[in-house]
Amino acid sequence: LERAQIGALKPKKITYADIGGLDAQLRRIREMIELPLKFPEAFVRLGVEPPKGVLLYGPPGTGKTVIARAVANESDAWFTSISGPEIIGKYYGESEERLRAVFEEAQQNAPAIIFIDEVDAIAPKREEMGGEKQVERRVVAQLLTLMDGLSSRGQVVVIAATNIPNTLDPALRRPGRFDREIAVPIPDRNGRLEILKIHTRGMPLAENVDLERLADITHGFVGADLQALAKESAMMALRRLLPSLDDAAKLKDENFLSMEITMGDFLTALREIEA
Ligand code: ATP
Repeated sequence: LERAQIGALKPKKITYADIGGLDAQLRRIREMIELPLKFPEAFVRLGVEPPKGVLLYGPPGTGKTVIARAVANESDAWFTSISGPEIIGKYYGESEERLRAVFEEAQQNAPAIIFIDEVDAIAPKREEMGGEKQVERRVVAQLLTLMDGLSSRGQVVVIAATNIPNTLDPALRRPGRFDREIAVPIPDRNGRLEILKIHTRGMPLAENVDLERLADITHGFVGADLQALAKESAMMALRRLLPSLDDAAKLKDENFLSMEITMGDFLTALREIEA
């Protein structure tokens, strides 16, 4: 690899092209969030109130966080992310203060997107809360207040993610709050193929690597699993070519730099992951 190529491997901004198998979801997200952030006048003219809050729900590892990051990036919006458990973990009174600070900072930096991961942690149904759930109760109330305080033209959108939408306080799903929902499902076979293509994009794949077949045999895998499979396959190739770390100097070798990841590496990695 040239130095320049190594430079290109640095973390880059996430775009829609990094998300596989979720075309319909991305289309809705773009209409609901990107377009109103970029072209507020058009929505005023259409008489449509853009949402202040959008709830993404689906199993872990299906891409909810990457969607939020991509739409922020593609909308040129300021982005901040907080997680439900992180907020709840604060000392008495700090949880609400932290939420307030996040909203304030977003409003100052608008257009902005606030991403709340695992929102269920702060917002379980209020009637299910016993006395020991005081913190959650206060944080839900604070979140409701802050969302009500956002003007719908305020150019701040809150995206929340959860694996368990049914545990959310219904008050959070009323109009003007998280009143749009998008299911982010486990990918089907074609979704898996798209995701595999994305996560092997920069890898030196041998000719025999058959991504179509890998998509066929990875039923039930989510994006995070497929990403792990791609990374693990690369490590398998490394171990195959470098059985002993005593030979690590070989990594500088011309021959080594022409190494490829084979279908065998993928199948070995798959067996390990499944085990
Ligand atoms: P959680 O509910 O556990 O927070 P999540 O749905 O937010 O999960 P992400 O954090 O977005 O999942 O995804 C985890 C990793 O898996 C990401 O780094 C991403 O690269 C990869 N990934 C997940 N879904 C997809 C997808 N649809 N296309 C491409 N990559 C994906």
